Amino acid sequence: MKICEDREALHVMVQEAVQMASKGKVADYIPALSDKDPHTLSLAVFEGDGPCVTAGDTAEMFTLQSVSKVISLALALMDNGEAGVFDKVGMEPTGDPFNSIIKLETHSPSKPLNPMINAGALAVTSMISGHSVDEKLGRLLSFIHDMTGDASISYNEKVALSEYDTADLNRSLAYFLKQHHVLNDNVEDLLELYTKQCAIEVDATSLAKIGYIIANEGRHTESSRPVMPLHIARILKTFMVTCGMYNASGEFAIKVGIPAKSGVSGAIMAAIPHGAGIGIYGPALDERGNSLAGMKLLEVLSQRYGLSIF
Ligand code: GLN
Repeated sequence: MKICEDREALHVMVQEAVQMASKGKVADYIPALSDKDPHTLSLAVFEGDGPCVTAGDTAEMFTLQSVSKVISLALALMDNGEAGVFDKVGMEPTGDPFNSIIKLETHSPSKPLNPMINAGALAVTSMISGHSVDEKLGRLLSFIHDMTGDASISYNEKVALSEYDTADLNRSLAYFLKQHHVLNDNVEDLLELYTKQCAIEVDATSLAKIGYIIANEGRHTESSRPVMPLHIARILKTFMVTCGMYNASGEFAIKVGIPAKSGVSGAIMAAIPHGAGIGIYGPALDERGNSLAGMKLLEVLSQRYGLSIF
C-alpha cells in the first residue's frame, strides 16, 4: 500500500508517537532553540505521484541544523568532485558524539572521519564555491528552492546569531582543521556561513520534498529533471545510513532501516530509495541528539509499510 493513501493511520501514528516526547529534552546549547514546545510533532510524506501528505503540527517551522550537512555535501561534491571532497573528509562512521574533537587528534591523518559530524561538516561547508559568505549561502538556498519548489525559504536570523555567539566548540574544531590544512578559510567567515546554513528554516513538507529527491536518484518527480547526479544521491543516502543518526546510526539501521539524517532542532529527513521522502519535526531529543518521537514514528512507519532497505 502507498503510505500517502493511509492518511487516517498516519494521524494515529503521530498522536501515539508524540507520547515519547515526554522522555526527551529540547536542545539548549543553542539558546534560541531552547524555548520550543517539546510536544510538537509533525510528519510529511511525499511519494512523488500525488500531493505531500501531512499529519500533526504541520504549520510548525524549524531549522535544519545537522540535516543541512547532507545538502551542503551535495553542493560541495558538485563543486569539487568526489576526489576533492574525500581528500579532506573521510567516509567512515564514528561511535563518538557529533561534536567530538577526539578523533581529529588520535586518528591519522587528522582529517574528519565523515561529513555528518561537525568537524566534517565544517570542512564540507568550506568547500562550497563562492566569493563571499552571502554568495555561498545564496547558492545553498537556491539549491533548496529548486528541490522544494519554495523560493521563500531562508534562514532564521535569531537562531543563526544565537549559535554563532555560542559556537566555541565548533570554532575550536575549525581552528584545529585549519592548523592541519584541512581548510584554510577565515574561521569567523566559515562559522557565519555554517551557522546560517544550520539555521535554514523549513516545514515538514519541504523536508519531505528534499528527501524525495535524494530517494529518487537526484531527480524531480514530474519532469525527471536531475537536481544532482545519481552518484551523488547515492553517496548522500549511504552516509545517511552509516552516519545520519550520529552515534545511534547502527541501532537505527536495525530498528528502522531507512536512510535518514537528524538535527538537534528535532528535524529528521528520511529518503526511502525509489519510494518516498519523509520530513519530521519533534524537538524533544534523546541524549545523543535525535528526536525521540521522530525516531519512534519512523520505526512504526517502517514496520507498518515494510520500509527497511535491508
Ligand atoms: N548547528 C549544530 C551544531 O553545529 C548542528 C548539530 C546537530 O544538529 N547535531 O552544533
